[in-house]
Amino acid sequence: MRKKGEIDFWDKEAVKQLIAETCPSLVEGTDPVYYCRHCMSLGIWGTEIGDTCGKCGSTDIDKATMEEYDALYEQKFGKKLFNIS
Ligand SMILES: [Zn+2]
Repeated sequence: MRKKGEIDFWDKEAVKQLIAETCPSLVEGTDPVYYCRHCMSLGIWGTEIGDTCGKCGSTDIDKATMEEYDALYEQKFGKKLFNIS
């Protein structure tokens, strides 16, 4: 059982809601997201050698609006992650 306040990251509605609450500018598409061009992960770390993907270790990082990211994600995986629009 999940504790209250914990987010189930497989629950896309919960993730979407969390993003909408914490980063409304992301959902509005005014702020870019940083993503790994290799595996599309959004878990990017800033390190002394530059931005690094926390999932695959790639340093091939790019930024896009949430909508652009979702379009790229769909191209790669055949479905959208956030499906905002
Ligand atoms: Zn990666």
